[in-house]
Formats: sequence, structure tokens, C-alpha cells
Amino acid sequence: MTDESKIIFTHLSELVTVDPARMSSENPLGVIPDGAIGINGTTIGWVGTTREIPDEWEEAQWIDQSGLIALPGLIDSHTHPVFAGQRADEFEARLQGKTYLEIAQGGGGILKTVSATRSVSFDDLFLLAESRILESMRFGVTTMEAKSGYGLTTASEIKSLEVLKALNEDLPVDILPTFMGAHDIPPEYKGKTEDYVDLVCNEMIPAVAESGLAQFCDVFCEQGYFSVAQSRRILETGLKYGLSPRIHAEEFSDLEGAIMAVELGAYSADHLLHLSDKGVHLLAESDTVATLLPGTAFYLRLKDYAPARKLLDAGATVALATDFNPGSCMSQNIQLMMTLGCLQMGMLPHEAIRAVTLNAAKALGKSHDRGSLTVGKRADIALFSLSTYHELLYHLGMNFLSQLWIEGEPVLISETEMQLEQTSLN
Ligand SMILES: [Zn+2]
Repeated sequence: MTDESKIIFTHLSELVTVDPARMSSENPLGVIPDGAIGINGTTIGWVGTTREIPDEWEEAQWIDQSGLIALPGLIDSHTHPVFAGQRADEFEARLQGKTYLEIAQGGGGILKTVSATRSVSFDDLFLLAESRILESMRFGVTTMEAKSGYGLTTASEIKSLEVLKALNEDLPVDILPTFMGAHDIPPEYKGKTEDYVDLVCNEMIPAVAESGLAQFCDVFCEQGYFSVAQSRRILETGLKYGLSPRIHAEEFSDLEGAIMAVELGAYSADHLLHLSDKGVHLLAESDTVATLLPGTAFYLRLKDYAPARKLLDAGATVALATDFNPGSCMSQNIQLMMTLGCLQMGMLPHEAIRAVTLNAAKALGKSHDRGSLTVGKRADIALFSLSTYHELLYHLGMNFLSQLWIEGEPVLISETEMQLEQTSLN
């Protein structure tokens, strides 16, 4: 008799556990060859080699996963999927030599997306964001952080966060929502940033907190956007209302926003292209994760990338994320970001894999229940048609996802795999 609540995967070419208890300098991701993993309901019940499967798993449903590698479900810890419209014209303008900030000053940029997002209905916004988040899942994502920030009025920020709440209920992927009313200064507050910060602190944050629609509060700390003092005020107000701080810092200039975020105990400081050596050192000493977004530097054709190597060598925890957004990185391909992390920032394959699993979980305050294939954690598992994890980084912009499991349920099975099953049935 089969125990319906228990499933065991066998004969995985590699079970890439990313479990610190199994990691060593010779085996930096805790890889188990000919691996097996038992799922008990929604969580992981057992991990080991196929040969060692204990007797109590005999009644489980056995699934031979030969030819596949298994990783913890990938975690995209920085995305902006709730928006209307698109900005393909800016892509061309950049190719003709305009910079991101010049385009923003000329009426493009975030504010162009704000005007499109304000004008669409909840239902339209829901459908747009849903199709984008499904695309993230196709690359192996089982948990994603997602920000508001294209409404910039109390009502439209709430609308974006309500879209995320509805999507989190509808889709199997776990969506962790961030309020980012301080993404830009809306046109009606042009030249009056301080007044807009008042609105964010006195009206938006209390309303968002009361609705229970966000876990985090984020701010774009940058020249021409929000100063360090304004960013601090926003994040401290968020903290007072129970929203945990995160920050966009040092993307185009070094204002020391990341240092401020470390002082506030932020889970994560993101971008960091212009992070100083002092910033590297302070991040390495802290519990704040350095979340690097190489897709953005690549997409904006920037010369400088974040100092990943310096951060890693100093002992900082480094995560990688897509920064998926319509202006500076129109891609949900988290696997491509891992390869860019290696090619453009000198990360090693095992560092890039940790950066989208355990370290990304830490950047979201979730490493206690996900980010590694460890007994007791959520059974979020991404399976790829590859023979070693090195190949995941080696293929450029390809996608070998074969199956995606979230909390012990299969949520995506690739077309290739279904065709193979059809063939074997015929
Ligand atoms: Zn961002």
C-alpha cells in the first residue's frame, strides 16, 4: 500500500542540498551523488543517497529522477512585477547613447510606468503581473519578493499590493510583498520631495500597515530620488509600523545608503555598484545580505558592476536577484543572473547557486524554512535536465528546468518531459 502523503525522489544525478551541515571546501554545495529526497506532506522528510533510503520510506510513492539534478527552489529576492505598459523605446534610446538618468529627466523612466499603472484597473494589473510571475516560475523560482512602487499615491500603491496578495493566493509561488512608495517622486510632487516623504510617512505607511499588505518597506536612495536622511526617515517609519527595511543603494553613486540600512538592521541592501571599501567592510561585519543585480548593470550597459568578489572575500553574504522591472532589467531569468554573476563579477558557480537559494532566503528573513534541501524545510525543489550543477551556469540564457515542486506539490512539468512520457506511453 502506498502512503499518499509521502513521496521519494530517487537516482538524482546530483542532489544539491546547499545545506551548511553538508558543505565543506571540497563540497561547497553539499552535493549528494545518486541522491534521494523524501517529501512528507509539504516539507522535506529525509535526505541522502538512493542506496541509504530507510525502510520507513518503502510505502512512499517512489519517483525515479535519473538524469536530473535537484536544487532548492530558486528564490528571486528583488523584483518589480506589478506595472502596466512597457518601455521598449528607452531600450533604443539607450543604444543611441542616452543614460538611464537622462531618459528619466526627459519624461521616461519610472514615471512613465507610473502613469500607465495608475490608469489600469485592478483586473488588468492582476493579469499583467500574473503572466510575468508565471514566467519567473518557468525559470525555477519558488519564492519571490515583489514590490509596489509604480502607483505613488496611497490608493494606487494599495491597489498594487492587493494585486500581489491576490496573486499569492492564486499562484503556488510564495510572493513576499514590499511597499515601495518611495520608488520615485510622482509628477504632482516635482520639486517638493520633502512633502512627498511626508505623504509616504504620514499616510501611505500607516495605511499599508493597517491593511497588512506588506512585509517590507523599500526606498530608492539615490541622487535625484531620496537622500540618505529621507530614506532613513521612511525606513524608520516603516519599522515603527512593523515593516522590515530594505534599500536600493549605491546604484549610480555612493551616498552610503547601504551603511544606513545596516544600522537599521535591514535584511538586505541591494544594487551596491558604487559601494566603497568601507561599505564592503561594514556589510561583511553585519547580518545584512548584499543583494547584487548584475542584470541591471548589463541591461543599462554600465561599466561598473557591484564588487561581488570583494564582498565575498571579506565574508559578506551575497545574494543575486533579477531586479525584474520594465526600465532597467526586463528579464525574469534568474538563471541568467547567476551566469552574469560569474562572467561579469567573478563569482564561482557554487557562490552563484548559494546566492539564489540559501543567501536569497536570508535576504528575505526566510532561511529558517527554505533555501536549502534540509529535513524540516519546505519541500520547494527545482529539477533540471543536467548532470551537474556546473552546467546550470555554463549554459548562457538557456533553461533546463524539468520539474518545479512547491510545498511537496508538482506545479510545473516541462513540455519536453511530458512529450517523453507520452512517447513512453505509446
Ligand atoms: Zn529594484
